[in-house]
Amino acid sequence: MELLFKEVLRQENEFFIYENIDKPGKTVSVTKALERMKNIIKIDLSKDNETVIKKAIALRNQILHFEIELDVQELSIIYAILFEFLHDFHLNFLNEELHNYIRPDYWEEEALLIEKYKKEFVIYNGAEISNKFAIEIIESQMFPVYTIKGTEYKRVKFGEEVSNDPDWFDSLTHCSDCAVKKFYFHAIGCDSEYCPKCGGQAISCTCEYEELQDAS
Ligand SMILES: [Zn+2]
Ligand SMILES: [Zn+2]
Repeated sequence: MELLFKEVLRQENEFFIYENIDKPGKTVSVTKALERMKNIIKIDLSKDNETVIKKAIALRNQILHFEIELDVQELSIIYAILFEFLHDFHLNFLNEELHNYIRPDYWEEEALLIEKYKKEFVIYNGAEISNKFAIEIIESQMFPVYTIKGTEYKRVKFGEEVSNDPDWFDSLTHCSDCAVKKFYFHAIGCDSEYCPKCGGQAISCTCEYEELQDAS
C-alpha cells in the first residue's frame, strides 16, 4: 500500500515522496502520503476507500505494537479486503492492472484472493457473516474503552455480562447477534453490547461515546 501511494505521488512530481521536499532524504510515511494524495494531487478517493486505508493503517500499528491478537482466519479476511482495495486502487490511479506486477508464481494465490473478496459472505467462527461485518468485528477489538464526557469506561466484552440464566449463557460460544467469540468485544453496533456506564443497551442508551462520534 505504501509503495503504491508513493508511486502515485512520484508520477506527479518526484519530490512529493520526500518528507521534506526541500531536502530529499527520508521518504514520507503512509499517513502523510495519503494526505498529499488528497490535498496536493487531489485524487478522487471515495469516502469508503479512505476509510479502508485509515483502518488498515490503524490495524497495522496495533499489530506491530502487539495490542491486538488476530488468528489466521481473521488475518486472511483482512488480507482479502486489502487486496481488493489495492487491486482497484492500482487500476484507478496508476491506470494499469496490478496483475501485471505480480510474479507468475503468485498468480494462483492472486486468484484465490480475488475469489475470496468477491464472496459476499465469509465463515467466521463457524457462522456465516458478511465480509464487511467480519472486518467490523476485528476493528471493534481496537477500542477497549468508551470515553463518556472525558471519562474512560472499560467496554463490556461478550461473556462478561451478568446473565439471569448463567447456565444457558455459559453454553454460548459466540454472540448470537454479532457472532464474536467469548471474551472479545462485540462488533460496534451489536444489539447485545451493554453500556459500561449505565448498564443499558450500548446502541440505545443516551450515553455519548466519543470513540463513535465520527462514525455517526
Ligand atoms: Zn454481539
Ligand atoms: Zn449508557
